[in-house]
Amino acid sequence: MKSVNSLLAATGTTIFTVMSALAVQHDSINLGQGFPDTDGPADILQAAADALMDGRNQYPPMPGVPELRRAVAAHNARFYGLEVDAMSEVVVTSGATEAITACLMAVLDPGDEVVVIEPVYDTYLPVIRMIGAVPRIVRLSPPAWELPRAELAAAFGPKTKAILLNTPMNPTGKVFTAAELAFVADLVTRHDAFAICDEVYEHLTFDGWRHIPLMTLPGLRERTMRIGSAGKTFSLTGWKIGYVTAPAALASVVAKAHQNLTFTSAPNLQRAVAVGLAKDEAYFRGLSSDLAARRDQLAAGLAGLGLTVLPSRGTYFLTVDFTSTGFIGDDVAFCRHITEQAGVTAIPVSAFYENDPPSHYARFAFCKREAVLDEAIARLARHFAERRDAKLTAAG
Ligand code: PMP
Ligand code: GLN
Repeated sequence: MKSVNSLLAATGTTIFTVMSALAVQHDSINLGQGFPDTDGPADILQAAADALMDGRNQYPPMPGVPELRRAVAAHNARFYGLEVDAMSEVVVTSGATEAITACLMAVLDPGDEVVVIEPVYDTYLPVIRMIGAVPRIVRLSPPAWELPRAELAAAFGPKTKAILLNTPMNPTGKVFTAAELAFVADLVTRHDAFAICDEVYEHLTFDGWRHIPLMTLPGLRERTMRIGSAGKTFSLTGWKIGYVTAPAALASVVAKAHQNLTFTSAPNLQRAVAVGLAKDEAYFRGLSSDLAARRDQLAAGLAGLGLTVLPSRGTYFLTVDFTSTGFIGDDVAFCRHITEQAGVTAIPVSAFYENDPPSHYARFAFCKREAVLDEAIARLARHFAERRDAKLTAAG
């Protein structure tokens, strides 16, 4: 038999699926894959249920139901002062995952270069390569995750077609500052490139940190594709409704990619997300303040165990340096070990790097109920205490 596609054959199963399966196998508390363990708002769920029953269950319009496109445009105006034409500048997708692929397909030809920043979300590199384009990877390193400006500038060149930027950033919890974004914007405009902005965590920022869409910077409105996700904004990760905001000339090409990928997604969910995007300020403030409290709870618990907890200014995630536990082995071994032996699952940060990854950092999701986080800390505390006792006994 002839061989299957070589790039896909060489692509492993995503770390999120691998660790979730391991968590189930060991009855472990899953702080790996990022999903909340409570449902999103009841009024949005009810809107989806109602919409299911009112007879609009055939193919919705390919770029999205008008209610949702209008809601995305209004949301852009309300939060960021972006004036967006709902009918020509918004495309609804099956999650941000599809949106990222559709935006990359919309602008890349084989041989084009795309600047991406490591640690990198797991779909970016395989999709760029499937299109025949070439990623130029710029690396952020823990613990500071500082943007290396000279390296970023050096990654742009005559073949650069686009940058793919994720802020607030998974897994680092970094929220790009106005100054960093201005630096990126200058490079993008000087190289006449496009910007694809993965902003799925736009509403999940803490401690007064505010998300700034790159699209709002001078010169970027006409060259940016801005991606949002109902999964993150409404704690409904299984719904897979994403949305792209882009100038009409780009949005129409994104829509062509979308028509060949999925064509559309469930109409009742789209209509319910429109209800969600119209929710009042209190909802969006509550979402981030609730998550900030969970972050503080998990950070304090992990720090109490002697782990070094890096700051997280946004997203569902925080990163720890586990060197102080004395664990011998890399981050993959550590995450496997705590899943199997302590009953708590995390994601190895090396999974977000292509080469020479940092080896002693793990990502924990804090988008879980208070009692679940308490239990996770208690399990880890018990486990590390037993290990210490075992070592002392062995030494004595
Ligand atoms: N981008 C980033 C940075 C993510 O963390 C995720 C996962 N939640 C996605 C995109 C995918 O979002 P969706 O579930 O809407 O496809
Ligand atoms: N974005 C989620 C995370 O980083 C995972 C999404 C997925 O499993 N595809 O954990």
